Amino acid sequence: MAKLLDKQRYKCALGAMQSVQAIERTLPVLHSGPGCAQKLSESIGSSGYFSPNIFPCTSINEKDVVFGGTKKLHSTIDNALKVIDADLYIVLTGCIPEIVGDDSGEIVSEFADADKPVIYAQTAGFKGNNYKGHEQVVDAIIEQYLKKSDLKEEGLVNIWADVPYQDLFWLGNIRELENLIREIGLTPNTIFGYKRGIKNIDRIPKAQFNLLVSPWVGLSNMKKMERKLGIPYLHYPTLPIGATETSKFLREVGKFAGVDEEKIEKVIKEHEDYYYYLIERYADLFLENRVINKQFSVVADAQYTLGITKFLVNDLGLVPATQFITDDTPKNQREKVAEEFKKLNFGLEAEVAFETDSHKIHEEIKSHDYHGYPLVLGGYYEKEVTEGLSGNFLNISWPVQDKVVFDDFYVGYTGGIRLIEDIYTVAVQRFN
Ligand code: SF4
Repeated sequence: MAKLLDKQRYKCALGAMQSVQAIERTLPVLHSGPGCAQKLSESIGSSGYFSPNIFPCTSINEKDVVFGGTKKLHSTIDNALKVIDADLYIVLTGCIPEIVGDDSGEIVSEFADADKPVIYAQTAGFKGNNYKGHEQVVDAIIEQYLKKSDLKEEGLVNIWADVPYQDLFWLGNIRELENLIREIGLTPNTIFGYKRGIKNIDRIPKAQFNLLVSPWVGLSNMKKMERKLGIPYLHYPTLPIGATETSKFLREVGKFAGVDEEKIEKVIKEHEDYYYYLIERYADLFLENRVINKQFSVVADAQYTLGITKFLVNDLGLVPATQFITDDTPKNQREKVAEEFKKLNFGLEAEVAFETDSHKIHEEIKSHDYHGYPLVLGGYYEKEVTEGLSGNFLNISWPVQDKVVFDDFYVGYTGGIRLIEDIYTVAVQRFN
């Protein structure tokens, strides 16, 4: 029987155009219906040199469904190369060309001798959501653009983390991960955001290892790079937020990379001293508000639900109610992700629900006894239900309508402090 899905938290795989856009001077060329791009173009902070409103698109119609849209794809790529100055062109296919059987790979191969590289990723919406689409884009870069390198740069680390734009804090988070890696003496390499782009893509094969900071998104990419490019990888499933997780993260990365332990401990000590100095100054605020925020729920993708749950338990001593993962985590990854919610301090374990239907999530939140005012960190959809329970709400995941973020971040020691500031800014307003 057909199922109704109330307010899902992701877009179709073609939403991966956002991942392409996040790679500077890389242009998505859409082979899809005209409405596909429009539907996906409303995200805040996505204007600039290229923006969704100017992405070239074949805008295929009924005639192309009957006769095929490959001619149109050829001319669209051809014209994009002539009139748009980019470093890399990535063709993204939508549902219609894939259903009617257009051989987009064949058309793209006709541009093998073009001045600029042209590759393609199959991102039809029926294949999955934009988390999978993001993986498809990285896959396309690995399979069609990158070549194995015998030259290795000692200490060079490729970092992979958030899905750009889907995560509000993607830019700040990845920059802060870079900073942390740099502080322990390694050289970070990332492809998303300001002044990265194709020159950093070209450095990928020279890395000592890949570092994946994500519960599941990107894991298949890491395996592919290990096979094709001979790059080993470290999978760190938790986005490190706050002192407990960030120190653990640095120790694990340092050990994998063979960094001197003393050096790591020195970096950790410096950060922790300042972190706990700040916490100490506001200890009275935490004690007062503990009464009103005994239990919490996070409603977000696996990345944020896990990272924030660990932070709120391990660093702030709060008690988890059910945590909701909304990214349609692949079934074969769920057990592993759920295991992570059992690795909390103080012998605590969090119950986790993989749920994409907001109606069911809201019913569970309403029926749970939070032993006081609930603290809910989630998408904008959770605002009304939390306010109905007189709880405290913070909009940390998509959809976001409560916050504008340029390059703010929640990663690391500083990110943990930012998250505390945001949570308690909401909490103290109760007393106004
Ligand atoms: S699901 Fe298919 S038809 Fe709909 S927007 Fe995505 S690619 Fe286009």
